[in-house]
Amino acid sequence: MILVVNAGSSSIKFRLFNDSDIKNPVDVLDGIAERITVDGFVSFKYEGKKYEFDMELPNHEVAIQFILNKLIELNVIVNINDINAVGFRIVHGVTISKSSIIDQKVFETISEAVKLAPLHNPGAIIAIEAIKKIMPKAKMVACFDTAFHQTLGEEQFLYPVPYSWFEEHGVRKYGFHGISYQYITEKMSEILVKSKDKLNLIVCHLGNGASITCIKNGKSFDTTMGLTPLAGIMMGTRSGDIDPSIIEYMSKELNLDVSKITNILNKESGLLGLSGKSSDMRDITDGYFKGDKNYIRALNKYTQVAADYIVKFANLLGNDFDGIVFTAGIGENSVTTRKLILDKLPLLNIEIDSAKNEESYGDYKYISSRNSKIKVLAVRTNEELMICKDTINLTK
Ligand code: ADP
Repeated sequence: MILVVNAGSSSIKFRLFNDSDIKNPVDVLDGIAERITVDGFVSFKYEGKKYEFDMELPNHEVAIQFILNKLIELNVIVNINDINAVGFRIVHGVTISKSSIIDQKVFETISEAVKLAPLHNPGAIIAIEAIKKIMPKAKMVACFDTAFHQTLGEEQFLYPVPYSWFEEHGVRKYGFHGISYQYITEKMSEILVKSKDKLNLIVCHLGNGASITCIKNGKSFDTTMGLTPLAGIMMGTRSGDIDPSIIEYMSKELNLDVSKITNILNKESGLLGLSGKSSDMRDITDGYFKGDKNYIRALNKYTQVAADYIVKFANLLGNDFDGIVFTAGIGENSVTTRKLILDKLPLLNIEIDSAKNEESYGDYKYISSRNSKIKVLAVRTNEELMICKDTINLTK
């Protein structure tokens, strides 16, 4: 078995895979431990049944131990040695360019990156330390959201600021959601029956956090997120790109220090900020159809910013690219968001098939009509499966 762990500061999402067939690992169980350090709640799904437990989870170690005990109780595993490897999702890996076994050097890099990803990397570090203690025999692999974007060229990753900021402080575009982009690139290679290194795509990963990536010859060529996940397109609660002077200006206006303003840009902006009501796309689209001007304002801005980036990336790829892909919670499910974005791309000669955009689907579906110059698809991403596969490849 392979355990995949996605840990935050107060939560651990986990998924267990059976790797008897190395090429096609099957997920057997997935769940989440939440409210760690606050009080504690664990839930998971196994064989179609939902299990829920309310209990004290003072730290990550207690949460992981509880989950493992439950797996043994339910006979999912006989003992912890049945789990031969653990794959971790790590948001920031600085300049590490591929998934890696967690040795001392990799662990140090993840720790150094805490200052670049203070909201994300600390949870992963605590989880790695807990697993090391509880399961000393399990091999551990780190899969980074930044790794896929290490192929960006200087023109894309440099900011026009003093060059010493890059050389001495690592200020550059890193990009995120790379595990998802890697998965989608491999899936699109299968769907289009085209070798990965010839694929040219624009992939819109629209979840709570959201980014768009331009993939040229199967590699990340440019992406919207930057030094941190705050940059790029408008998101659920993040602003995306804004005039940087707004920070100092609003800091003075509101008499708040810079970190508080940055916190507002991360947690109270985007769809939530502009609507003043919700960051959830289901609420936004419902309100949009009811004619609520707050939701209309938020959705119009959201879809325009996304369309603007798609055009920019289409320009980098030239006329003849393989397709636009929508993925993650909003990209996979929101018919309205996809339609509004595509309607704002007159330059690209896309023909949407409204019926296809609306119909239900399994792994993927086409949204564009047969005559459309550019293909458009919705594809379900699977970051956990990607992490599981990388973990198998590095540990078998
Ligand atoms: P993350 O992994 O970044 O937390 P997700 O990929 O789960 O986020 O995406 C969450 C977003 O997807 C929310 O805005 C939610 O409203 C939206 N979403 C999920 N299901 C649907 C749906 N059926 N229709 C429209 N939006 C949806």
